[in-house]
Amino acid sequence: MSNQQSNKGSGDKKGKKPSRFGLLNSISTGLLILFLVSSFYSILADSGPSADKIALSDLVRDVGMGEVISITVKGDDLIALYRDNVSKKAQKESDSSVTETFTNYGLTPEKLNAVKINVEGPSGFAFWLMQLAPFLAPLFFIALIIWFLTRQARGTGMQAFSFGQSKARITLPDDKKQRVTFKDVAGAKEAKQELAEIVDFLKNPKKFLEIGAVIPKGILLMGAPGTGKTLLARAVAGEAGVAFFAISGSEFVEMFVGVGASRVRDLFKMAKQAAPAIIFVDEIDAVGRVRGTGVGGGNDEREQTLNQILVEMDGFEPNEKVIVMAATNRPDVLDPALLRPGRFDRRVTIDLPDRNDREEILKIHSAKKPFAEDVALRVIAERTPGFSGADLYSLMNEGAILAARENRTKVAQFDLIRAIEKVMLGPERKSHLLSKKEKEITAYHEAGHALVASVLPFADPVHKISIISRGRAAGYTLHLPLEDRKMQSKREFLDDISVSLGGYVVEKIMFNDVTTGPSNDLQVSTALARDMVTKYGMSEKIGVLALESSGGRAMFGKGVEDNGYSEKISADIDSEVARIMDEGYKKAEDIVTKHKAALDAIAQRLIEVETIEREEYENIIIAHGIQPKKKLDIEHQI
Ligand code: ADP
Ligand code: MG
Ligand code: ZN
Repeated sequence: MSNQQSNKGSGDKKGKKPSRFGLLNSISTGLLILFLVSSFYSILADSGPSADKIALSDLVRDVGMGEVISITVKGDDLIALYRDNVSKKAQKESDSSVTETFTNYGLTPEKLNAVKINVEGPSGFAFWLMQLAPFLAPLFFIALIIWFLTRQARGTGMQAFSFGQSKARITLPDDKKQRVTFKDVAGAKEAKQELAEIVDFLKNPKKFLEIGAVIPKGILLMGAPGTGKTLLARAVAGEAGVAFFAISGSEFVEMFVGVGASRVRDLFKMAKQAAPAIIFVDEIDAVGRVRGTGVGGGNDEREQTLNQILVEMDGFEPNEKVIVMAATNRPDVLDPALLRPGRFDRRVTIDLPDRNDREEILKIHSAKKPFAEDVALRVIAERTPGFSGADLYSLMNEGAILAARENRTKVAQFDLIRAIEKVMLGPERKSHLLSKKEKEITAYHEAGHALVASVLPFADPVHKISIISRGRAAGYTLHLPLEDRKMQSKREFLDDISVSLGGYVVEKIMFNDVTTGPSNDLQVSTALARDMVTKYGMSEKIGVLALESSGGRAMFGKGVEDNGYSEKISADIDSEVARIMDEGYKKAEDIVTKHKAALDAIAQRLIEVETIEREEYENIIIAHGIQPKKKLDIEHQI
C-alpha cells in the first residue's frame, strides 16, 4: 500500500484554455502550406506546354529563314511557333530585350518584323513567389523554430503557464484500486470513532441538515509521523465514497508569490463542484505556522496562503458538503486562527499503536507475504514498542527482503527479528572494521551501558548488545521497556541518564581517556536532564513550573526570543541540570567499580563473539551475582 494517488483529471489537464501558441501555430502552418502549394505550382508551370529546346542561335537562324510565325516571350523563355505547327523553346540572355538579342545575332529588322512577337508576364503564382521568396524564407524559418519550441514547451515547461491551478491529487469514489477504507487502518479506535461521524454526514447529509445540526468544516488529525494520518484521511473518503482532493502544505508554497493563494482558490472551487468531497491538506504546519513571530523568516507567501484557506473555510455554507481535513505532527506550532471554532475545531489525535494495534498492523501488512510456520507476529509486536505504523510497514518489507536475499521463499521469524533492528538502527555495516583497540573500547563502552541498565531498578532490561556497527553507531545496546508506557516517572528518567552515561564512565575508568564515541550519549542525557527541570517540574529547586511547553518553543503565538524567565532562573536551571548529570555520573561510576568483574566478562565475551543476545547476557550477569529483570519486578514497582 502506498500513498500514491491517481492523477486522473488533475488540475493541469482540466479546462486548459486555447493557448497563446495557437495563433503562432496557425501562422506557421499557413506558411508551410503556402510553401508547398507554390512549389507544386512552379513544377506544374515548368512542365507546361511540352516544347523541344533549341539553342538561341538555331532559333535566330530559323527566324532568318522565315520558318517561324510567332514568338511568345515569357520572362527569359522564348517559345517559337513554326510554320509546320511545331513549337520550340529557347532562352535569351536575361538582361536584354528580344529585339536587342535578335539584332545582336545579326538578324535584320525586316526579317524580325515578319515574326509576330507576344510578350507575356511570367506565370502568376510562380512569379509572385519569386518576388516574395526573399521575405518569406526567413519568416518561414522563424515560424518553424517557434513551432518546435512550443512543441517542447507543451511537454514540460507548459506547467509554468498553469501555475495558478491547484496541484491536488484527486481520488474519485469509483476508483477501486486507490480505495482505502477503515479496514486498512489497524488500531486507532478512538480516531475511527470520531471520524465515523464525518463519514455518516458525507453519506447522508440530509439527516443532519434537517435537524439543524452544524457539521464541522475542518478536522485536524494530529499524531507522530507515520501513525497513519494520511491513510486515515483517505479511508474517510473511501468509507463515505466521496471525491478526495489531497495536497501537501509544502506544495502551496512554491516558486511564485501569490500562487499559494490562487492554488487554494482553485482547490476549493474544484472540490465544491465535485461535492460531496474531502479536501485534505497534508503537513499543514508548512503553511499554518504561527504568523508574525519571525520564526522561519516571516514569509509573506505563507501568510497569504493561510489567509486564503481561512477565507475559503469561512465562506463555506454548511450545506456545501465539503469537509476540510488536515494533518500535522506539530500541532503546537499552528496558528491559533486555524484552531478557532468554525475552522479546524475538531481535533483527532492518533497515538502510536500499542501492542495489540501493532500486531493488527503487522497482520495487515503481512498480506501476500508467505510466512514460515515459526512466525509469531505477537512476539514481533511485543518487541517493537514505540514503532509507528509506517515503521511496522517497513519492518515487514525488510523482513521479506532479507528472506528473498537469502533465496528463501518464505519469511521466517528470524528475518522479522533482524528487520526490527534494521528499522531501528539502520543496516549492519559488517564491512566497517574496527581496529583491535577500537573494538576493545567499543566492547567496554557497550558493556558499561548494559551493566548499569541491569543494576539500576528503573532502567529498561537489556535485549541485546552488539559491537557490529549499525547506521552511525559503532556499537549498540538494545534495551526495551517491558511494557508500552505512556508516562515516565522521575525515577525512570534518572536511571536512564545513568545508563546513557555508563559508556562514558567506563571509558574513563578503563582507559583513563574518552573517545568521541559517547558524544551522542551525552547530548541525549543532557537534553533529558534539561527537560526534567524545565518541562516536567521534576526539580525541587525550580519547583512546579513548566517553563517551556512540551513539543516546541513557540507556544500559541509567542515567539522564541522571549523565553519568559529571568537571568536568575536561567542560572538555576543550569545548576540543576549540572547536578542531575553529576548524580547520574556518580551512580554509574559506583556500579561500574563495584561490578568490575561482570563488566570484564561482558566486554571480553563481546570482543569474542561481537553480539550477545538476552539469554546469554543474563547468564553472564547471574554468574556475577546480578539478578536480571523480570516482568514481575516492573509490576511490583508500580
Ligand atoms: P502519516 O501521514 O501519519 O505520517 P501515513 O498515513 O503516511 O502516516 O502512514 C504511512 C504508512 O504506514 C501507511 O501507508 C501504511 O502503510 C502504514 N500505516 C500507518 N499506520 C497504519 C495503521 N494504523 N494501519 C495500517 N497501516 C498503517
Ligand atoms: Mg502523512
Ligand atoms: Zn553509548
